[in-house]
Amino acid sequence: MIVAERKTIPELIEILKGQKKVLVLGCGTCVTVCLAGGEREVSIISSALRIASRLAGFSLQIEELTIERQCDNVFIEKAAEAIERNDAVLSLGCGAGVQAIAERYPAKPVYAGLNTAFLGILEERAVWTEKCVACGACVLHEYGGICPITRCAKHMLNGPCGGSREDRCEVLPDRPCAWQLIYQRLKGIGQLDRLKQIKPPKNWNASIHGGLRVIVREDHRI
Ligand code: SF4
Ligand code: SF4
Repeated sequence: MIVAERKTIPELIEILKGQKKVLVLGCGTCVTVCLAGGEREVSIISSALRIASRLAGFSLQIEELTIERQCDNVFIEKAAEAIERNDAVLSLGCGAGVQAIAERYPAKPVYAGLNTAFLGILEERAVWTEKCVACGACVLHEYGGICPITRCAKHMLNGPCGGSREDRCEVLPDRPCAWQLIYQRLKGIGQLDRLKQIKPPKNWNASIHGGLRVIVREDHRI
């Protein structure tokens, strides 16, 4: 899922300075699960902004709403009336959600209330870790399902860097060395031979480094 974090209230006050009526719009999917932008956070942030804006000398009138997904026009439609009657939208969706709302309402200021961080999973209660940087050409099958691009601090594709201590990464000592995990996993599934193959340099054209990415499914177009 997409993992995000809330911006601080002082940051949001700075962003919303000069606005009068603001819709704080939550998203019921990824950012709800990572406790950043769901119904509960909409309520907490709205209360905090009411108080903080009063203290800052411009009392915000805030409406609260959470829709199922901000990155989908079908669900954005359900927020149409609330968006229309407010001067601006503070979106608690991920970066895609914020931009989807802004594209749909070109005359309405739409602000990001979150910092979108990464694609990850819940590792333990209240701890999320990154698992994928969406490189566009997945090689997980070659590494036992453990991504060296995301989980190795040096993005090593042909074995470990040699700096690990015990099973810890030398760059991030609180994290396991990804190559230790890859080795154990490949050993466990009887595929250690994969490590004998030298991988050529990765082509990053399919990643964000190749520019904006678009996927078109011609077989589904009308
Ligand atoms: S190889 Fe690329 S697509 Fe696959 S998990 Fe790693 S970053 Fe994500
Ligand atoms: S110690 Fe392991 S995870 Fe850390 S940079 Fe080196 S190979 Fe990558």
